[in-house]
Amino acid sequence: MPQPRDDVRLMAGYHSPLVDVAVRLNVNESPWPPPAGWRHELAAAVASLDAHRYPDREATGLRRALGDLHGVGADQIFCANGSNEVIQSVLLAYGGHGRTAVVFDPTYELHAHIARITGTAVVRGERGLRFELDLGEVRRVAADALADVVFLCSPNNPTGRADTLDEISEVVSVAPGLVVVDEAYGQFAPQTALELLPGEERVVVLRTFSKTWSMAALRLGYLVGAPEIVAALERVALPYHLDALKQAAGRVAIAYQADMHRRVAAIVAERERLMGALGDLAVDLWPSDANFILFRPRTSDAGQVWQGLVDRSVLVRDVSTRPRLEGCLRVTVGTPEENDAFVAALKEVTK
Ligand SMILES: *Cc1c(COP(=O)(O)O)cnc(C)c1O
Repeated sequence: MPQPRDDVRLMAGYHSPLVDVAVRLNVNESPWPPPAGWRHELAAAVASLDAHRYPDREATGLRRALGDLHGVGADQIFCANGSNEVIQSVLLAYGGHGRTAVVFDPTYELHAHIARITGTAVVRGERGLRFELDLGEVRRVAADALADVVFLCSPNNPTGRADTLDEISEVVSVAPGLVVVDEAYGQFAPQTALELLPGEERVVVLRTFSKTWSMAALRLGYLVGAPEIVAALERVALPYHLDALKQAAGRVAIAYQADMHRRVAAIVAERERLMGALGDLAVDLWPSDANFILFRPRTSDAGQVWQGLVDRSVLVRDVSTRPRLEGCLRVTVGTPEENDAFVAALKEVTK
């Protein structure tokens, strides 16, 4: 058999276990779909689609709509198939052989994983005791490594808290290269790094339609940043990588922004209710600015609790093998009924 690259041969894939259960709270999806109006408008767009023609290669309409949403030009928006593909494009253009990316654990594993796939060296720093950014550590790691790309995640997955704008600005001042702020959960947070963009040309912000916009099935994400950076990303993207359906789905979604914010508010209310219910159980909890909660069962091992929940048809994410997260699980905030089912199951498993 032909052999893949040595480093690829040794790589583990990245995936959440697929288990058939009634209550799926493992990948931070929205518990509710987009509104019926979105579905109807999208169906109309599909009905009039010129399927025999390549899509708009520049995704003009979608990028203009996203630019308007954030008060920037279309030339400051780069769209791709999920923000994971944005991350890949960033690393193809700014990482690669001989270059270094820095992450601060515990954080979103795909930043380091995609870096390695693109041949980028990965240097790992650590967050502080309460998972806040530790600026001494950032200085030590990002500056010493001469980081070409620094990844931040705010709110941070899987720990939950958002970094402050002061902290992010400090990182920019000590890190020499590109600073990527992954805001997959940005609409849940009290502030956004988008506010830093006008003065900080080395900062780019990632957003996705997978979580708050309830469109995980569509695979659409984007970056906001300086036009020169967007132009570099376009150079490494495949021609016509963004299909016409996806462009239409995103364009139509933006018209339903108010519905999105209502869903976010409903999820926040549910998160606070769930936090209260978990407070009565034998688990340690971390505060969250997102649609998930990190918790650590006090009475039994994380693997046993995870399996006990699966046996009761509830799936959460086992993050206990990640650095600094021994014994921890992560639950996505679901519908009120799903959250009740989760709490009832967890009560049985941890009693
Ligand atoms: C879910 C998530 C993403 C989303 O990736 P998509 O490819 O857009 O679905 C990106 N970053 C973080 C931190 C996430 O949690």
